[in-house]
Amino acid sequence: MRAGAFASADVLQRKSWAFGLIARGNAAIKAGFGRPWRFLAKRRLRVVYSTRLSQLPPAQFRLRCGCQNRRCAAYAEELVLETRQFVQVGRQAAFSSAFRPTALVIDLRRFPDCAAYMAAVGRETKGKYRRSANKAKRLGYHVRRIDPRSFPDSTRQIWSSKLIRSRGPVLEALLKREAASKDIELPLAEVPCHQHWVAGWGVFIDRDGKTRMVARAILRRAGNVVSIDQFMGHGDLLGDGVTKLLMFAIMQWILDRKDPSAQGLEYCFQGAIEDGSKGLVNWKRYTQFEPRACETDDQGVFRFPEGFDPRVYLELNPDVRAAGIDPKRHYLRHGLDEGRPYLR
Ligand SMILES: [Zn+2]
Repeated sequence: MRAGAFASADVLQRKSWAFGLIARGNAAIKAGFGRPWRFLAKRRLRVVYSTRLSQLPPAQFRLRCGCQNRRCAAYAEELVLETRQFVQVGRQAAFSSAFRPTALVIDLRRFPDCAAYMAAVGRETKGKYRRSANKAKRLGYHVRRIDPRSFPDSTRQIWSSKLIRSRGPVLEALLKREAASKDIELPLAEVPCHQHWVAGWGVFIDRDGKTRMVARAILRRAGNVVSIDQFMGHGDLLGDGVTKLLMFAIMQWILDRKDPSAQGLEYCFQGAIEDGSKGLVNWKRYTQFEPRACETDDQGVFRFPEGFDPRVYLELNPDVRAAGIDPKRHYLRHGLDEGRPYLR
C-alpha cells in the first residue's frame, strides 16, 4: 500500500511537535510536589506539572512477553520509540531530568471489570461523564472497531476541526486546507498475535443516508501495555459526548477481558501530563490515568536489518519522505511487511 493513502492520519499529530516541545519545556519545572493532582487543582495551572519521578509508583512495561517472532518485535519496537522519552530502561538510568515529561498510565489491575472502572470515573465526575456518554448514545452515535487506515478524510476533518490540539496549533485548521483523500473503509484484519497488534476505533453517526466518523483513536499493544494514540473528537460535536462514548467503549472492551487480544494487559498508556491544556489534564485524571515512573527491560527488541539507514530509506521511498513519516516507524509498521528497499 502506498504511504500516502494512510499517511494523513499517521502524521497529523506529529506535525506540530515543535510547538509542543516549547510548551513542554516551559511547563516542566522541577519541584518535589508530593501530591501532584492536588497541586494542579489548587493552583489552577494550565500545564505545569512536576514531581520527583522516584516518588511515583512504578509501571513495569514488558513489551515482549515471551513472544519471539519478528513482526511482534516490530510492534514492541514501535512502542519503544513512542515511549522512549517517558520510559527508563533498567534501573540505572538517570530519571531525574527536569524536562522529562511524566507519563500517564491507567493501572488496569485496579479494575476487576468495567463496572469498577465506571464507578471510579463516576466518583470523580459526579456522574457527569456517564451522562454525557449516554447522551451520545441517545443521539444515535455508535462505536466500532475499524482498520486504523480507514476513513482518512474523516480523520483529517476531525483533526482540523480545532485550532489547537494537545500537541500544539493545527496547521491544517489554520490554513483551512481542503482534504486530499476520500474516505475508504478497509476490512478488519486478523491479528497474528494477541499480544502485539494495532487497532482503530471510531465513533459514527448516520445522517442523510451517509455514515460519518466523528471521533477516533488508535490502540497499539505490545506485551502488557496498550497505548492510546490519536484520541480525538470533532470539535463541533464534543458537547454531544462523543469522546466519552469512545473512551468508555474502549475501556469496556479492555476491562471485559473477553477478547483474547485484551487479555494480559496491565497498563494503558497515553502521553504525558505536560501535553495540552488543563482541560486535557482533567480529562485524563477523571478517566483514571495516574502519573507513573515507567520502566522497561525491553530495549532495542527489534533488530533493524544490517545496513539500515533512515536517510537512505527515505531516499529510496520518496512517498514516505513526502508524507513526512518517521522512517524507522514507517519501516516497523509497513516497510518490513511490504519489503521496502533500504539499501542503496
Ligand atoms: Zn507477539
